[in-house]
Amino acid sequence: MPIIIDITSLLESVGKSLKIDETETVSYPDDNLVLSSPVKFVGTFVNSGNSIILNGKVSTNVNLDCARCLKEFDSPFELDIDEEYTLDQEKVWVNNERELKEEDFCFQIGADKTINLSEIIRQNMIASLPIKPLCSVNCTASI
Ligand SMILES: [Zn+2]
Repeated sequence: MPIIIDITSLLESVGKSLKIDETETVSYPDDNLVLSSPVKFVGTFVNSGNSIILNGKVSTNVNLDCARCLKEFDSPFELDIDEEYTLDQEKVWVNNERELKEEDFCFQIGADKTINLSEIIRQNMIASLPIKPLCSVNCTASI
């Protein structure tokens, strides 16, 4: 299940914050990203006035292929996430004339005032997964 956060109450006033503590089984089949345990996310969304700021930490387990011996192995994965989403788009919601420019694709507050947290986690994970993971520091198999 994707983790969808409703930020309607957060948008009501500047300075409001929303604590998130979610554990959810998430899968990302399109990205070859195999999570062997549910994703735990603990963090906070804050309405700064101009933007929504997200600070949090993801922890899960990832199934990786060792770059040396090619064996699959399970690796604990932790990642700090810091994101900021500008609120200028609110005008767009009001006018209901949402035209997608290319840069809007990284903007993840939907017209229904939700944030797809699992998508944020996916992008952050993909950006920080090791390019050449090793099953152990001692893996000595040669390719
Ligand atoms: Zn290995």
